[in-house]
Parts: sequence; structure tokens; C-alpha cells
Amino acid sequence: MTTREILTYELFGQGIRELAQQVADSDFEPDILLGIARGGLVPAGALAYALDCKNLFTISVEFYTGVDARLDVPVMLPPFLDARDLDQAKVLVVDDVADTGKTLELVNDFCGGHVAEARTAVLYEKPHSIIKADFAWRRTDRWINFPWSTEEPVVRRSGVRDA
Ligand code: 5GP
Repeated sequence: MTTREILTYELFGQGIRELAQQVADSDFEPDILLGIARGGLVPAGALAYALDCKNLFTISVEFYTGVDARLDVPVMLPPFLDARDLDQAKVLVVDDVADTGKTLELVNDFCGGHVAEARTAVLYEKPHSIIKADFAWRRTDRWINFPWSTEEPVVRRSGVRDA
């Protein structure tokens, strides 16, 4: 039996529709989606279409260096988003998973004081997360294999000629 939670692209499509439905059924209509790079970018882009929201921002945060291997704290990476660009908007912060929850917390704090309201949406939430996402598709305590980050990056094939 696998000890991993496996998300396929097909299941991802279903998950995004169901997550979007949770948001649409709520009292929160976001003006802006803020995807946390890199893991939150694919979910944020798909959610933006599902919610028909054209304002999509990104913020880069680095925390994990491998399976369950982390830096001490999550850190924002340049180029830095100017929080005034989110001025008084209703912002939906999107990530792939709230594991420790520290990344979501960092971005939530960053939004604080600048936006009218910030809520959070994730595909997965782990039980020990310090932040409870406003919208979560599934809950698991296992390590998740996401379809965009499980395989090794592609490399140039030998014998391919320069254009
Ligand atoms: P957190 O700050 O909540 O601990 O984790 C934030 C980021 O770490 C996630 O957005 C994701 O990129 C990465 N991460 C945490 N848990 C997992 C996991 O189970 N699987 C994968 N692939 N990435 C994870």
C-alpha cells in the first residue's frame, strides 16, 4: 500500500471544480486571487478560470527543500509584490497544501492591513496545520504527490540539434 496521497491531473480537474464550488457557495466573492509560487500557481490559475476571476497575482515563498525537509521558516523571494497593489481588495490566497500552515500564515500576515479581506483556499489541508484554510478540498496527513512536481525536470536530449 502506498504511503503517499497521489493527485493525478484528472483528479486535480475535479478537485478544482469542487473547491471553486465551495467558494461560489460562500459569502465571499474574491476580487483577486493570489497564488503562492510555485505549488499554488497551477491551482490558482485553474481556480481563476473556475471562478471567472481575471485578476491573478503571484507571490513566491520558499520553505521545502525535499520530502518533509524544510528551511527553519518560510521566506519570501524576490521580486516582491507591493501590498498596495492589493489595496482594499477581497483576496483569495491559494496554495496546493497547508502542511505546517506556516506558508499560508506568512502570506496572510503580508496581506493583513492592506486588503479589505483575505481568505485562504487549498487543495489539501493536513491536520497539524497551524492555520485552518477557509476552503479546503481534501484532508490528509500523508505526503502528497502533485502531478506538476513529482517527475524530474526534462533535460535536453542528446542528439537534438540546435535550431
Ligand atoms: P507549509 O508551509 O504549509 O508547511 O507548506 C507549504 C508548501 O510546502 C506547500 O505549498 C508545498 O509546496 C510544500 N509541501 C508541503 N507539504 C507537501 C506535500 O505533502 N507534498 C508536496 N508535494 N509538497 C508539500
